[in-house]
Amino acid sequence: MIHRWKKYQELLEARRREIAEELASKRAQIAIERGGDELDRMRNFSERELAIRTIDRLSALLAQLDLALERIREGTFGTCRACGRPIGARRLNAVPWSSLCLPCQEAADRGDLEAA
Ligand SMILES: [Zn+2]
Repeated sequence: MIHRWKKYQELLEARRREIAEELASKRAQIAIERGGDELDRMRNFSERELAIRTIDRLSALLAQLDLALERIREGTFGTCRACGRPIGARRLNAVPWSSLCLPCQEAADRGDLEAA
């Protein structure tokens, strides 16, 4: 069962490493000592804000990747968590960490889907 998803597992793990590295460098970036003149401080401030938003986004993605890897281990990967149908290969190739099939994702985006 795990072997069946090996391609995705490797893809997810590679992506996970990339994101973990990016997160570490963003975190280092916001830890940088502030200094300089007023303009520098203002620029640092907006760069910090941007870095913080990026960290939030990357952290959320990292959590999704972890969940997807967990689903591979549990054997529920590739199955829609809302309707239980297989998630299409095209969708998995586009978004390997998705846990909803396309129709369910669209319903969720419209707000029609009860949280599964
Ligand atoms: Zn579905």
